[in-house]
Amino acid sequence: MRAVADLLPISEARELVLAAVEPLPAEDVPLDHALGRVLAYDVESALDVPPFDSSAMDGYAVVAGAAAELRVVGEARAGHPAPARVEPGTAVRISTGGAVPAGADAVVPVERSEESDASVRVPDASAGDNVRRAGEDVRRGDVVLRAGIVLGPAEVGVLASVGRAVVSCARLPRVVLLVTGDELTEPGDELAPGRIFSSNAYALAGQVATAGGRLVRRENVPDDAEETRAGLERALGDADVVCVSGGVSVGPHDHVKRALRELGVEERFWGVRLKPGKPTWFGVRDRRLVFGLPGNPVSAMVTFHLFARPALRALQGATPEDDRAKAILDEPVRRNPHREQAVRVRLRANGDGWHAATTGDQGSHMLTSMLGAAGLALIPLGHGELAAGERVEVALL
Ligand code: AMP
Ligand code: MG
Repeated sequence: MRAVADLLPISEARELVLAAVEPLPAEDVPLDHALGRVLAYDVESALDVPPFDSSAMDGYAVVAGAAAELRVVGEARAGHPAPARVEPGTAVRISTGGAVPAGADAVVPVERSEESDASVRVPDASAGDNVRRAGEDVRRGDVVLRAGIVLGPAEVGVLASVGRAVVSCARLPRVVLLVTGDELTEPGDELAPGRIFSSNAYALAGQVATAGGRLVRRENVPDDAEETRAGLERALGDADVVCVSGGVSVGPHDHVKRALRELGVEERFWGVRLKPGKPTWFGVRDRRLVFGLPGNPVSAMVTFHLFARPALRALQGATPEDDRAKAILDEPVRRNPHREQAVRVRLRANGDGWHAATTGDQGSHMLTSMLGAAGLALIPLGHGELAAGERVEVALL
């Protein structure tokens, strides 16, 4: 590991990661599968929305004018335009969403009209009353969504409203998770002495999914040089992004860095000025990105969030997230003289802005410190305490 002075600040490590990303090619995605995907190109609307002048109320389509008794000459239901034209002295019964018939320029609501036999008594109406104009929502030729946006429910809805059945999105990054450690046991199996359940396999798989990655495989490898190398080789064959958990430190049974070197993965950094997460390793082979994440469960999640997540999003061409906020510390935090700290915090909105309170004990092996955490308060390195009331930057989870 590098000397303390050589450790990279979080921001520089992140830049090195982003500099190594080449966005993945786009593919056609049916709208039904587009949720969470990143749009590859701007989408222009080929039509006005609404496509025609339509009624905002159930009522009568009329020619604007004074109160009158009008002859009802037809009906315009939603989806069934009226064949009749509306002339002065006549009206067409109309439903919400029905096309305003030719000749009419206003709708009077049914609640304010009185129909009897084939005629209706209507109050006075001005042109445009209760009419939704064609193109009021979207005009033909408008760009409705920009490249780089993550498609949420509203975006998918807007795409449907302009008639798009298929959209172009970056291919999902394929991710292989390689989980190292002789001590690891799958949940559900018997826990032998000296062993622990493998939480990283599950927490990291969850983070891959929420960052938009497609988990191809999750594989456990023992602390063995040959098996580590073989596992990494398989992973590099199948993935755009390989995340290795554990084995990147300096212990005699940490085989990951050496195996990566032997496989021709070029190291971009090893060692970040971050607590937890110091031994984080990052490298590249061809366009494949490899993250060596520390095994401690909190370190693994924190470093995934700060470094691997931005890479997964950038691979999809996503516009960088606005994922930082300022918050007021509700309690003092002891600074570390050598490293920035990612302190797990709850966030609470108050009159004077966001407030951050730690989730409790912050050991890098205490995964429960991630529970309820809405962000990672980034505490600059330094001496003494950062006092309650200080404003800190928070990376939102
Ligand atoms: P390492 O980075 O391999 O030295 O591991 C650091 C610490 O993290 C050790 O206490 C490991 O037992 C623990 N650890 C490694 N991998 C996992 C995992 N998948 N789940 C839970 N703890 C782990
Ligand atoms: Mg280990």
